[in-house]
Amino acid sequence: MATVTAILDFLFGCHHVQLSRVFTIQGETYKVCCDCGAKFAYSLDTMSIKRRLPLTPVPTKFRVA
Ligand SMILES: [Zn+2]
Repeated sequence: MATVTAILDFLFGCHHVQLSRVFTIQGETYKVCCDCGAKFAYSLDTMSIKRRLPLTPVPTKFRVA
């Protein structure tokens, strides 16, 4: 089923062309798609994306003191 989802995502979903810079937050290094917000684990050893991370709710509680 994951393969079907991946194919549908490839055909109709975001192609993740516009990726952010590399972030390392709480020991986790990743890039983020600027279009859809998908996260991709990033290896600093190989300087390449390792795998897509499951979507997590984006923290929206930014407060300006
Ligand atoms: Zn995307």
